[in-house]
Amino acid sequence: MRARRAFLAAALILLLAPPAARAAPPERPPTLTVRLTPTAPRQGDMIFVLVTGASSAREVEGSLDGTSLAFFPYGESWAAVVGVDIEAAPRKAAWRVGVIDAAGAAQKKTGTVTIRRRTFPEQRLTLPDSMVDLDPESERRASAEATRLRALYDTTTPERFWQGRFTRPVAVEGPGSGFGSRRVINGKPRNPHGGTDWSADRGTPVVAANRGRVALVGDFFFGGRLVALDHGLGLYTLYMHLDRVDVTEGAVVGRGDTLGVVGATGRATGPHLHFQVQAGRARIDPATLFALPVGD
Ligand SMILES: [Zn+2]
Repeated sequence: MRARRAFLAAALILLLAPPAARAAPPERPPTLTVRLTPTAPRQGDMIFVLVTGASSAREVEGSLDGTSLAFFPYGESWAAVVGVDIEAAPRKAAWRVGVIDAAGAAQKKTGTVTIRRRTFPEQRLTLPDSMVDLDPESERRASAEATRLRALYDTTTPERFWQGRFTRPVAVEGPGSGFGSRRVINGKPRNPHGGTDWSADRGTPVVAANRGRVALVGDFFFGGRLVALDHGLGLYTLYMHLDRVDVTEGAVVGRGDTLGVVGATGRATGPHLHFQVQAGRARIDPATLFALPVGD
């Protein structure tokens, strides 16, 4: 039906056009196309948004589910990455992309994307309160550190530091474990585990998943010695429970550069790396960051 209407419109234009224009048809602007990968994301997924047909765009902006999209030039196209938080409600979410071309003309595309539920493991425990509750001082400390991290995630550096694929931060076998698992202690649900854990020997090198700027080096109650990398455009990766940190705040590191070594600092039962991915405040499954279809 649409093809037929387009044909009729084209025929009409030909009929109405003066003979000179018929001989040299005007160049048609490229069709604006927006593609989301994956098309039906789950809770905790990273989404890659690709905008084609806008190579001469002066500006590309948009939003997905109320989160603004930070576009960057990507070959002849434009792209953005956006995260679906681990606890985002499964539903249809709206997206919108607006383009202003070199001549100042505006084009817009809108659509919806279905956020699918994902089942995470749950563990129910009954423990004496003394083992569960923090003392007031630790409580205050942990809460101040959580506030500091939230302030970091709310900071969007306008520059993109990362490029190409994201690499695993530690050279051990297996995909890691624990993303999204939740403990219900004495009937109270705790926060879901927001990262992936890899068990490794103390002293195993921990490397940057991609190029970024060291935004934070800290020694936190839960995370122990940690490094947060700012990859730009609101994307962060965190490396926790480190035995030793080898970088300083403000340094720019490349993918694969050593940040420190595996340890068991903070709240940890044994040496392991807790690796966390934040797209703004959205807690993202690292596996979906590694799977991003980025080629540049
Ligand atoms: Zn962990």
